[in-house]
Amino acid sequence: MSADTSTDQPAAWAAYQDACRRGELVVQRCAGCGRWVQLPEAACPWCGSGELAFEPVAGTGEVHTFTVVHRSFAPGYQGREPYVMAWVDLAAGVRAFGHIVGCAPEEVRVGMPVRVTFVDELPHWRPA
Ligand SMILES: [Zn+2]
Repeated sequence: MSADTSTDQPAAWAAYQDACRRGELVVQRCAGCGRWVQLPEAACPWCGSGELAFEPVAGTGEVHTFTVVHRSFAPGYQGREPYVMAWVDLAAGVRAFGHIVGCAPEEVRVGMPVRVTFVDELPHWRPA
């Protein structure tokens, strides 16, 4: 574990959003233990290693779980309700987070196939 990884957190997010701007879905993978780390971190939450490299992953998966937000307390999201936030199981074996777009909230189901799309420099998911 590196001595001070706290300052790396903004850098990890910047690199993640750079990939999103390119239309590329990436997930960090730990060189220490081999586990995927999602969302971006400065250090591996499993083993503490600071050696986390971004790897491209296929932007397809299925909804693991979701919630419909009817009243947001998040700045920037108030007024967009209702919207759907979900964890998505990717084929690579990692779970990714994001909003479901492109369908009505009541149409979202656990197990629904989805494909990544990028909105506001973040991965979102739409029905595949
Ligand atoms: Zn690790």
